[in-house]
Amino acid sequence: MPRYQPADSLQSPRFTGVRTFARLPNVQSTDEVDLAVVGLPFDTGATFKVGARFGPESVRSASHMLRNYNAELGIKPFDVLSCIDYGDAPVIPGYIEDSYTAITETLHPLAEAGIVTLGLGGDHSIALAELRALAAVHGPLALVQFDSHGDLWDSYYGGHKYTHGTPFRRALEEGLLRPERSVQLGMRGPLFGPEDLQMARDFGFTVLTTTELLAHTAKAIGQLVRKTVGDAKAFLSFDIDFFDPAFAPATGTPEVGGPTSFQGLCYLRACTEVNFVGGDVVEVLPAFDHAQITAHLAAQVGYEFVSLVATHRSRLGSSSRPLERMQTGHE
Ligand code: MN
Ligand code: MN
Repeated sequence: MPRYQPADSLQSPRFTGVRTFARLPNVQSTDEVDLAVVGLPFDTGATFKVGARFGPESVRSASHMLRNYNAELGIKPFDVLSCIDYGDAPVIPGYIEDSYTAITETLHPLAEAGIVTLGLGGDHSIALAELRALAAVHGPLALVQFDSHGDLWDSYYGGHKYTHGTPFRRALEEGLLRPERSVQLGMRGPLFGPEDLQMARDFGFTVLTTTELLAHTAKAIGQLVRKTVGDAKAFLSFDIDFFDPAFAPATGTPEVGGPTSFQGLCYLRACTEVNFVGGDVVEVLPAFDHAQITAHLAAQVGYEFVSLVATHRSRLGSSSRPLERMQTGHE
């Protein structure tokens, strides 16, 4: 069995204990760890509502409801993967570039040790720092982005380059992504112009608006994602505003007319057989939450990500990590 496991909720009530993701042990180690959850409590990149700095604590709290068996994917992810909650990156509120450095320096040794990272945002600007850390180890990555926005805009407010609307533009410029292997799902809402969607396609991304997405079954979307990503190493970036604000009200830039929580989770679970080396769940602003609706959904998204990684890993053989490292090296 994996070295690090969640607390057993049949032995101690879920509402007890210090809040970590899925009741995992809070450990700062890279030994015998397959996946590390890292809080990225930063929201200086937000262009509208702020408060995502409190996202990680809220998602961790809601995540105590998670149980060990993912019945939809037919797997006990924590029996496959040794998982920890690594704590939070030491971000500096108000200082985006210094915070990027702090996030990248936190994640890089984890990636270097072959650990899959799951970032809990934080506004979406943090994705650039995550990608810097992971691409330094793995090379340019395929992006699987669930979001109602492309976050590919060039700049805001007279040339300011670092916001939650620009991380993937910067990532492209820095050579951290493989756009031809990348897919954006769920685009919708009023735009600045038709060029907003077109530029993503011009960059080489496969882009599905919410209208296009909902016209397809989860199975078909899973096939599309697999076909697009292929055998590339991939990063899942899940902006909780992908969902309709009726299902995820606590977010910084809500866009109405989106998928339900059920629909979105079905699409996410269909993304099997993708080699995810990292992922995140971002843009949860607990001050706007009701009954932790958004936090519970974000926790579930994180759980599905862990389950997808476990599913992929178990297909390769349960003790594949050292072998995989030998075969692929650190590119
Ligand atoms: Mn968004
Ligand atoms: Mn976003």
